[in-house]
This record gives sequence, structure tokens and C-alpha cells, in this order.
Amino acid sequence: MDAVRWTAALADEKVVRRFEALVRSVRGHDWWTGAIVRSGHGRFWIGRTNDGRGDVVAAHRFAFALGHGLEALMGAEAVMHLCDEPLCQRSDHLAAGTRAENCRAWMARRHDIGSPHRDCRGRLARSRMIRDAVRDGGDVTAVIDAGVSWRDLERPPLLGLEVVSTLAGVPAAPD
Ligand SMILES: [Zn+2]
Repeated sequence: MDAVRWTAALADEKVVRRFEALVRSVRGHDWWTGAIVRSGHGRFWIGRTNDGRGDVVAAHRFAFALGHGLEALMGAEAVMHLCDEPLCQRSDHLAAGTRAENCRAWMARRHDIGSPHRDCRGRLARSRMIRDAVRDGGDVTAVIDAGVSWRDLERPPLLGLEVVSTLAGVPAAPD
């Protein structure tokens, strides 16, 4: 979509309201509840052009343009999710970057325990399940947790309580 059509879409109150109606805040993220593409990202249908074609954009690019301005979007090679949730539309969770940076961030964070990148259901299935839970008022936390692999669950970093119990067992220093 070119800059002229972007400008028109962002200035169109009806389009913006329709976008906002498809976003819901749960657990600190603003989740997309509309259509989803194979990569697990949201897909926003903006409207029909004069020649009858449809304008469709990645939902988070629309969110980025709303929050940071069209110029920032046009200057960005990629719009990255700082929170690693492909459905998130919170503008402060989105940042402009290069494709290489986006790829490097993915490579680095897919090793983080419990990262969305490690979800064993795959990106599309995970996004659909989260979207449905958000839309239907389901338990989003349970849906997210269900995709954390057993390997991650058994890793010590998630069992941080061990550190606390060790400290609790240390006798107080004598006066
Ligand atoms: Zn987020």
C-alpha cells in the first residue's frame, strides 16, 4: 500500500474505529482479535480501492503507524515486536528496525525459556488459540502456558522459589 492510501486510511475515523474495535487489552498486551495470517500476525482489511481491489495490511503495521506516525512506518524496513507476541498491537511494544535486526532478535530470543518463539504449537495455531481466548473471554494465561514445552517447564529458571527456600534456611547472623 502506498503512502497516499496509508494517509487516507489513517485519517479515516471509520477505519481507525474498526481497527480499534478488533483490539482488546489483556495481560499487558493489546491483542488482535480479527483475521490471522500464516505467520501468526493479524491481518487488517482497510477497504476497497477505486479500482475495486482490496487494501490489506499487517495489523501491527497499522498499529505502529497510528502510534508512531506514517513517516516512521515508511522509514522502517521492518516493524518489530519488542514483546515477541505477533498479535500484540500496543504501539509501545512495537519498534522500527531493519530485517536483519528483526531476524537477529528472533534468533536470540527463541532460546529464552518460555519465549513465544518456542511455543510447541507453531505460530499460526498459537495465535489462533490466543485470539479465540481473548475474543471469547477465555483464560488467556492458560492458553499461553499450554504451549510452553515440558523441557522449558523443567528448567531451573522457572523454579525460582528454590533460591528463596535456600535463603530461608540460612540461620540469622549472631549479634
Ligand atoms: Zn505486547
